[in-house]
Amino acid sequence: MKEAATHIAIDGPAASGKTTVGRIVAHRLRFLYLDTGAMYRALTYLALRSETDLDNERALVRLCEYDPIRVKLDLDAPNGYRVFAGTQELGAELVSSSVTSGVSTVAAHPLVRERLVMEQRAIAAEGPVVMAGRDIGTVVLPHAQYKVFLTASLDARVTRRREELQASGVNVDAHRLREDIEERDRLDQTRATSPLRPAADATTIDSTDVTAEEVAGKIIGMVLGA
Ligand code: C5P
Repeated sequence: MKEAATHIAIDGPAASGKTTVGRIVAHRLRFLYLDTGAMYRALTYLALRSETDLDNERALVRLCEYDPIRVKLDLDAPNGYRVFAGTQELGAELVSSSVTSGVSTVAAHPLVRERLVMEQRAIAAEGPVVMAGRDIGTVVLPHAQYKVFLTASLDARVTRRREELQASGVNVDAHRLREDIEERDRLDQTRATSPLRPAADATTIDSTDVTAEEVAGKIIGMVLGA
């Protein structure tokens, strides 16, 4: 019988380091890496561009039908994957402040999630993957062999996200950033469908006082049995 591919689910609140850690783990283990937040961000971008009401679930689903959101795995791309809406490739648009402010509203719709989860599972069916998001261990890959819930204090998350943005030339007010992160976490934790929460069998890792390298080392240790 064919052995199931290894799947590593990393969930956690905004700016907890999922992407940084996930990329290191995937790179070392030679797994694919997928940040599912990019898919919800891509749909939010399409909605804002077409002035679609972010509360209009059916219109959002129609947008996905018209311009399907696809992730193409590409080890040569900086993230290890590229995001497309229809034929258009999306990059910096995905992290604009308007997309970041609207994404939790878009992601709360059950029919939107159903479509994107289908695509995420199809990617996992291709082989070993590290997948990061909010509902990977609970909903998308409930049978993942390794599940991590990554947390960090709000202060640490605000500082890290601010430094990341500054490194890419974007200056943001720390107070405003803090409010944005808190509001996004609140919406993600309180939505009715697939709320952000640790899976019952997840290992929680608090990264407040440890580096991404150390967290990645811990996860790799879990997988390799070290
Ligand atoms: O991870 P990132 O901050 O890019 O995610 C953006 C938003 O996408 C989250 O705040 C959440 O609303 C949504 N999301 C989700 N489920 C996932 C991944 C992201 O609802 N698996």
